[in-house]
Amino acid sequence: MLQLSGLTKTYGDQPGVDRVDLAAPSGSRTVIVGPSGSGKTTLLRLIAGFETPDAGNITLDGRPLDTVPPHQRNIAYVAQEGALFPHMSVAENIGFAIPRQASNRESRIDTLLARVGLSAAMKSRRPHELSGGQQQRVALARALAQQPALMLLDEPFSALDTGLREAMRDMVEAVLREAGIASILVTHDQSEALAFADHLVVMRDARIADAGQPQRLYEQPIDIETAKFLGETIIFEAAIRGGVADTPLGPLAVDHSDTAKATILVRPEQVRIAENGTLARILHSSYRGAARRLELECQSAGHFSIDVPAATSLTQGDSVCLAVNGRGHVFRSR
Ligand code: ADP
Ligand code: MG
Repeated sequence: MLQLSGLTKTYGDQPGVDRVDLAAPSGSRTVIVGPSGSGKTTLLRLIAGFETPDAGNITLDGRPLDTVPPHQRNIAYVAQEGALFPHMSVAENIGFAIPRQASNRESRIDTLLARVGLSAAMKSRRPHELSGGQQQRVALARALAQQPALMLLDEPFSALDTGLREAMRDMVEAVLREAGIASILVTHDQSEALAFADHLVVMRDARIADAGQPQRLYEQPIDIETAKFLGETIIFEAAIRGGVADTPLGPLAVDHSDTAKATILVRPEQVRIAENGTLARILHSSYRGAARRLELECQSAGHFSIDVPAATSLTQGDSVCLAVNGRGHVFRSR
């Protein structure tokens, strides 16, 4: 179990990471998301030991890491661009952390290669003879060879294109799960974050804005910025009475009713076209293959888009009635 408390790092007068508390249980998958410059890389580098905190502390399985150098932390780090040793072959890169005298050295390298989905024919190649995706696989195998308690992955898929990216993500998830290695993955892609995490952390301005189960963060984010960062939003002010908000989209059950007036979040996928309800006008309709996206203008709830079956006969200029499924989320902090 990794535990961070009050972790702080400042560069000049620029906060890199500011009073961060975080716990990652053994075998868990934590994902950190946040805009560029929010402190994600700094946080990972502090955990890895490449940076020294100004305040706060880090423990791994109860052991304080303050004075432990990076290579003795039992933590592996995979950077955005694999950072392989360019003059070494694939096998030498992967074998870097395996003692020379280990009798099973060769077979361990072969096993790791297979685990990350690379053929044995790759062993003698140099990094420049590999594609970006292959390089990241080697970087992952090299990190796995350390048999770490914790794997840190800093945007490891961001240089890959969409299809490959998803395949790599699934592969990494499966490999880490099999090996029982806890991981912290940094990404700026919110759908990747929601798919990979069992614990999601949203960073903003060097601090943790919200953290918890991905579904809780998506459905009940702490504030408007977090809500917008994780997906499309429809946000309005409404009066609440008896657990029901009087909203521009009609009466709506809400998750907290201890205030008389509140700011409320509805996700566009909760909105459907109904027989009767709030009137909206279709500003634009675009075909998306699996669905048709309707851009709507609703007098009091503003502009937003919803997806409907592609076969709909609705077109630009039509008026529709809207209803909302589920509950609205009341923002409790402002
Ligand atoms: P992210 O990974 O979320 O994009 P970083 O952790 O790289 O963010 O950066 C967080 C903040 O710390 C930024 O304002 C960045 O400019 C600053 N920073 C990071 N590393 C350094 C450094 N070595 N020297 C000075 N400022 C830094
Ligand atoms: Mg970064």
